[in-house]
Amino acid sequence: MKGLVILGSTGSIGENTLLVAGRHPERYRIVALAAHSNHETLFAQCQRFRPEFAVLVDRAAASKFAARVASAGLGTRVLAGTEALSTVATLPQADVVMAAIVGAAGLAPTLAAAAAGKSLLLANKEALVLAGALLLDAARASGARILPIDSEHNAIFQCLPSGGEPGAAPRGVARIVLTASGGPFLKTRREDLASVTPEQAVAHPNWRMGPKISVDSATLMNKGLEIIEACHLFSVTPERVGVVIHPQSIVHSLVEYDDGSVLAQMSQPDMRVPIAHALGWPERIASGVPALDLVQIGRLSFEAPDCERFPCLALAQEAARTGGTAPAVMNAANEVAVAAFLGRRLNFASIAGVIESVLRQHEAGPVRGLDDALAADAWARERAHAVLTSRQAAGA
Ligand code: NAD
Ligand code: MG
Repeated sequence: MKGLVILGSTGSIGENTLLVAGRHPERYRIVALAAHSNHETLFAQCQRFRPEFAVLVDRAAASKFAARVASAGLGTRVLAGTEALSTVATLPQADVVMAAIVGAAGLAPTLAAAAAGKSLLLANKEALVLAGALLLDAARASGARILPIDSEHNAIFQCLPSGGEPGAAPRGVARIVLTASGGPFLKTRREDLASVTPEQAVAHPNWRMGPKISVDSATLMNKGLEIIEACHLFSVTPERVGVVIHPQSIVHSLVEYDDGSVLAQMSQPDMRVPIAHALGWPERIASGVPALDLVQIGRLSFEAPDCERFPCLALAQEAARTGGTAPAVMNAANEVAVAAFLGRRLNFASIAGVIESVLRQHEAGPVRGLDDALAADAWARERAHAVLTSRQAAGA
């Protein structure tokens, strides 16, 4: 019986993790659940799973929540504030930590879990983009195992030679190919992209995800972040990570070997599959997802990505090649631009322009420690807000 902590339990990955873990009560006991402010969902989760600890970062929400937990007699200890995330991520009774907070906010507790030697199920790709080398170093030093949850990286992990460890250069591998659905605007004309709405952008054709990653999928920045994620997890250079558009989202990624063999992992597009893979690893456990019916699917198609209509992909490839603080800066500018788009303060087609403008102002330096990564992140947020303000002033 393993103790499981879920950071970001009220989100899309968090809820799917509870669905899978809930099928296997003989394997997993929920030690702690943590979220930002959604106390309604967290309360329902606590009623069902009775964790020892529950965290809400938002203190006002936490005090409301604590009163409800107490009057229901759940016996769950309620903690509040950002530091509480790292507290529960490093509890001695926690064996496995699901890192499923969205954005750079997830970095500190994810790093804390890695440093504490926990088995780390890593969904929070922004933490890797911001400070991948630090995270991998911390895991190596403590002996923490990292199991990728992002469906593409989980697929690659499954297709690498057995015993392949994240962070170790895979032998005999020529190239890694990430598949991308292309998002809701795969067929949208360039001139129509400026007027798409947040509602259209978050309506992903194949996956139900949180709003930020849904917008990233629509701009293809998600694939850009995933290139950087793959470089860290599998010790490959950006030149060896390809991207192919595959609108059906059945093939989740591929590994090309030196002998010309290509291995792919396939499943229904449902995050319970990679989550169950990581929760069960090295065994296989049920996810609740039905098997693939290839005859019913009938046809799988592949095409090249269009970097003209989706410039975020090229920006990320450039940041990946530059390295150092460039990925952290790109990630932070993207978080600010996506929030502005979701808040209807920026049009969809201008997201890339904001990121590019911040990257052009940046002179990349080395990431020697967490301070360098956090300073680059803070600098880029400030620059991105300034770019937004000047665009608004110019009526753009
Ligand atoms: P979501 O928006 O549905 O959920 C985010 C979770 O993080 C919520 O529980 C929220 O309370 C918490 N959170 C947000 N800000 C926080 C903060 N400042 N402090 C503490 N907690 C905070 O997002 P999601 O779709 O579940 O994605 C989570 C992560 O997993 C992202 O990094 C995303 O890129 C990655 N991911 C998601 C999917 C997917 O299918 N949803 C697939 C691959 C990777
Ligand atoms: Mg993915």
